[in-house]
Amino acid sequence: MAGSPAPKSLAWYLAQVPDFPEAPPPQRVQLPKDGSAPFWFRVPTDQKVAFITIDDGGLARPPAVVDFIREAHIPVTMFLNSPAAAEHTPYFKQIEAAGGVVENHTITHTSLKGRPYAFQKHEICGAADKLEQLFGKRPTLFRPPFGNRDATTLKAAYDCGMKAVFHWTETVNEGIVRYQTPTKVVKPGEVLLMHFRPALMDDLLAALKAIHRSGLTPVLLEDYVG
Ligand SMILES: [Zn+2]
Repeated sequence: MAGSPAPKSLAWYLAQVPDFPEAPPPQRVQLPKDGSAPFWFRVPTDQKVAFITIDDGGLARPPAVVDFIREAHIPVTMFLNSPAAAEHTPYFKQIEAAGGVVENHTITHTSLKGRPYAFQKHEICGAADKLEQLFGKRPTLFRPPFGNRDATTLKAAYDCGMKAVFHWTETVNEGIVRYQTPTKVVKPGEVLLMHFRPALMDDLLAALKAIHRSGLTPVLLEDYVG
């Protein structure tokens, strides 16, 4: 068909991005003042918004993702392992320039739960220090690898300057959204997790469609927390 974009081209992805309702003015959430970072599966907000997060960074970095995020104005938060960020800094800087924000996902991507404070603090502060050095801005949000955490994690995160620790509600992989509940709806404040994997273009598109079907608008996590 003349004029229709080739399947899986950037134009093909862009043509499928839904039109979202305008995002409401963001209401920043209250943070506890008890010397520990809060642990959240979702952002405590009733606003009709959802959040897209992309983790890790070492496995795959599809080049088209940079253009997709820029052209479609997709708000993304990147929870990066600091060695992957160091090895591929220009790629993540391009996403940053397109509106993405770099946050903290430890150095070695090891499970923190049950480990001593010094170990956990090294993983969290060490990654924050490196990411600050690479990107000129210190992360303020933390995602523990595999979502595994304990009270020590939340204390260490706080001591490293992290304002909140995030789990997720939906995961997206190979272009398929997986929900944590039988109701296949993204609810206000929920956080979608995907990874820097080969199918990230499909994952981003699937997330956008799921958020749109649910009557929500994707917005930047850092406009609410951090
Ligand atoms: Zn991870």
